[in-house]
Amino acid sequence: MTQTPNKRARSTEELQALADQGAAELGEATAEDVAAWAARTFPGTLAVACSMAGDTVLPHLIARHCPGVDVLFLETGYHFAETLGTRDALASVIDARIIDVLPAQTVAEQDAEYGPRLYERDPGLCCQLRKVEPINAALSGYEAWVTGIRREDNALRANAGLVEWDATHQLVKINPLAAWSFDDLLDYASQWSVPINLLLTDGYPSIGCEPCTRRVAPGEDPRAGRWAGLAKTECGLHL
Ligand code: SF4
Repeated sequence: MTQTPNKRARSTEELQALADQGAAELGEATAEDVAAWAARTFPGTLAVACSMAGDTVLPHLIARHCPGVDVLFLETGYHFAETLGTRDALASVIDARIIDVLPAQTVAEQDAEYGPRLYERDPGLCCQLRKVEPINAALSGYEAWVTGIRREDNALRANAGLVEWDATHQLVKINPLAAWSFDDLLDYASQWSVPINLLLTDGYPSIGCEPCTRRVAPGEDPRAGRWAGLAKTECGLHL
């Protein structure tokens, strides 16, 4: 399991108050204003989560305001080659420290304990072991995290605020792109020449681990390709 350094200086109560203050102060501010607030409020204690899918503009945006920021990438061991290539391309163009957040077990170790292809038999447990537990451990040392959640992603995210208190992880959660559309992402990427995952324009508007992601047809729900055929719609990071 990847252990990040403990950068927390403020108490839980202080952080909760900052979340309330940020939400009230920012209202429906622009992504640039939210990024500037995050950099001002959490210098050196901020982490950016990035899946190297449709959210590469997020670390780019935050690093412009907060050079050297930590970027957490959940390296589940099941990614598309294009996703790993995107991570490497992004690392070469932004001023940030990209950290591969690793599960406690390699895929081979997990296969040995639970049997191969756990994602087919129990995707909830697989996501718990390879995403939820690793991100919980990685986030514990920060005061705030920035995510690429967008309200149009799905019904669970429709009410996402720009700044929220994350009771699950006990830190401030900042969603600068909450009001953005998919086209807004592409426009930013084009304006700043940010590397994007090539699968995005190849029928994969939402990209996760390779075994759990399929192409979607034109006009289909963008997230229909995630855990297709199962009731599961979220990996659990944002629940
Ligand atoms: S998305 Fe699929 S492969 Fe990846 S951690 Fe979840 S169940 Fe496992």
